[in-house]
Amino acid sequence: MIFKVFDKKELKKLFDVLSSDNSIVGPVEIGADRNDQPIYAFSLVSDFNNIKLNYSTTKLPAKKFFLPFKEDLATFTIKEHGWQKNVDYNIDRPYIFFGLHACDINALNKLDKVLMGSTYPMPYYAAKRKNMFIVGIDCAPQPYCFCRSMGSDTVLHGFDMFLTDIGEEYFAEILSDTAYNFLKKINTRDPVEADHFLYMKSVSEKNKKFTAHVDTTDLTKILDMEFQSEVWKHWGQQCLACGTCSNVCPTCYCYGVEETVDINLKSARKTKSLYSCNLIDFAEVAGGHNFRPEQHIRLKYRYYHKHRGFVEAYEESLCVGCGRCGESCLAGIRVPEVIASVRRQED
Ligand code: SF4
Ligand code: SF4
Repeated sequence: MIFKVFDKKELKKLFDVLSSDNSIVGPVEIGADRNDQPIYAFSLVSDFNNIKLNYSTTKLPAKKFFLPFKEDLATFTIKEHGWQKNVDYNIDRPYIFFGLHACDINALNKLDKVLMGSTYPMPYYAAKRKNMFIVGIDCAPQPYCFCRSMGSDTVLHGFDMFLTDIGEEYFAEILSDTAYNFLKKINTRDPVEADHFLYMKSVSEKNKKFTAHVDTTDLTKILDMEFQSEVWKHWGQQCLACGTCSNVCPTCYCYGVEETVDINLKSARKTKSLYSCNLIDFAEVAGGHNFRPEQHIRLKYRYYHKHRGFVEAYEESLCVGCGRCGESCLAGIRVPEVIASVRRQED
């Protein structure tokens, strides 16, 4: 890895260099909540002054740019002597993501394992992912962030450049040739010992600010032991089965596929829509049988997929600890509390 340091005033210049030929997606403020706190979203941004690099967390992850809620996998045109299939990977254009936090980059790395590293990679995701350039930025832990417990507070790959605020300057980690060449267009310098110290100080100060934690020690074993635990019923009774937690989650990727024929019978399409394992018909099969009709079973399986099944398959959790699900849940169901209750840990 190559490191550079540059003055904060150079960041606008870097943004301008990047945006001269590319579309930039970054965190912008889109309103305020009932407590008058800003609401942030990832959006296309063309003016550096509109980007909010000191944002807390966006309500929704950047998922819509590489795993859209709904997309056509194929369209079909029915001709006189057969039909013609058209496949489009729906790559609008390459995107530069300017200001992703470590947890969201880690979420992408996890999705890569499933959607690009498996026996049947998903070309629609892969095509968009390969057209992404990522500038990561460090963050300030929020009361709901438990990324440190999940090992997602720092990130080692999956980005092109990662910036850490060290006071008057940014400390840049560079992982790609493209990032290195972009940085040649602004004023940078090689770091010296004092910069390393400032970087480590910044990391150590950040670590002190985490307040939410999840004890992941032996968690897969404990989940195996507690599969029949009454705590799942407790949380299931509160769950509204609304699916919001999956919608806001940067690592939830489950989807359904629907085929529809136009009313004139001349064209058809196959459409993928993201889905949530908490929705009532998630496990309903042809004939109407539902394998998971109860809310607590569906909620339990979401936790088992994130914290047990994925760990068994990839030796890491599918949760990055961003806290979005708990913050958006109308029933107040939060990962740290759920896991603590399974472990019988009191506050
Ligand atoms: S957001 Fe909360 S209430 Fe809605 S499905 Fe998820 S856990 Fe249940
Ligand atoms: S399960 Fe919740 S805390 Fe974990 S990655 Fe998804 S939204 Fe974030």
